[in-house]
Amino acid sequence: MIGDVESNVLGVRDLRVSYYTARGAVRAVNGVTFDLRADERLGLVGESGSGKSTIALSLMRLIKPPGQIDDGEVNLAGVDLLKLSEEEMRRARLAKIALVAQGAMNSLNPVLRIRDQIDDALRDHDVNLTRTEFAARVADLLRRVDLSADVGGMYPHELSGGMKQRVCIAIAISLRPSVIIADEPTSALDVVVQRQVMETLQNVQEDLGASIILIGHDMGLMAQAVERLGVMYAGDLVEVAPVKEIFREPLHPYTQLLIASLPSIKKRGGYKGIPGLPPSLLNRPKGCPFVARCPRAMERCRVETPSPRRPASDRMVACHLY
Ligand code: SF4
Repeated sequence: MIGDVESNVLGVRDLRVSYYTARGAVRAVNGVTFDLRADERLGLVGESGSGKSTIALSLMRLIKPPGQIDDGEVNLAGVDLLKLSEEEMRRARLAKIALVAQGAMNSLNPVLRIRDQIDDALRDHDVNLTRTEFAARVADLLRRVDLSADVGGMYPHELSGGMKQRVCIAIAISLRPSVIIADEPTSALDVVVQRQVMETLQNVQEDLGASIILIGHDMGLMAQAVERLGVMYAGDLVEVAPVKEIFREPLHPYTQLLIASLPSIKKRGGYKGIPGLPPSLLNRPKGCPFVARCPRAMERCRVETPSPRRPASDRMVACHLY
């Protein structure tokens, strides 16, 4: 259990999610446990296929067949979201927990003005406002994401990528959720706009007193954007620590290699990737999932799956070295 303190807003316990394919069950999330604290920005980083986006969809209960949540708990303010009825979960989305999905800006309805898309979100939750109240609400939401009120009268094609992404953030916060999940929220944007959108997200989170789970693959972006970082590998959460500590002293060999492969001004020569590929998630073998690529692998690693250890009160690592 990571961050087992009273100020947690979200507790994820032993979450297991599989995709049931014709070739067998693909275990995309393999018993993941973590907490999200009040007012916190927690990052989940990992390469594609590591399970991080599946976690985002699972927390929202938006996994579609052939995917299925096999087991676990997602405890939000004392309520296990996995036990809610479909209707209760529909009401919890946006009001308690919201997702800025990967590529969200491309899912805006092209034939609806922005204010009508915000209206849809509010009506879906039975928020009925007078015209004046609604106009004020739209202006307030747009202001919170650094957009002018005029944007409410525009169509998505009239907006830049960064503006569309801000609109998606505005819709996500329209009912003041306590948890915002942002899945690669800046991946399609250029570097300058990326930074601005991240700042907006941070301001919104602080304004609302919400907590954020930021999902991504860019360690550099994570270093600037989050307070604690979880590292995913092949469906497992292999390390969690305050972001400064993870960069100062990464414990898991995979985290060590991820950080060593980051470009730096001091480093000369070509970039060093991590050799090898992640294992197949179909019929996962016993042992550590990183064993085939780990420079410190031991005999034990091939037969015994490492369980989470806590080498310090605020750190977790799943590796036999500790
Ligand atoms: Fe490497 Fe073994 Fe640790 Fe896995 S458990 S990361 S193989 S040392």
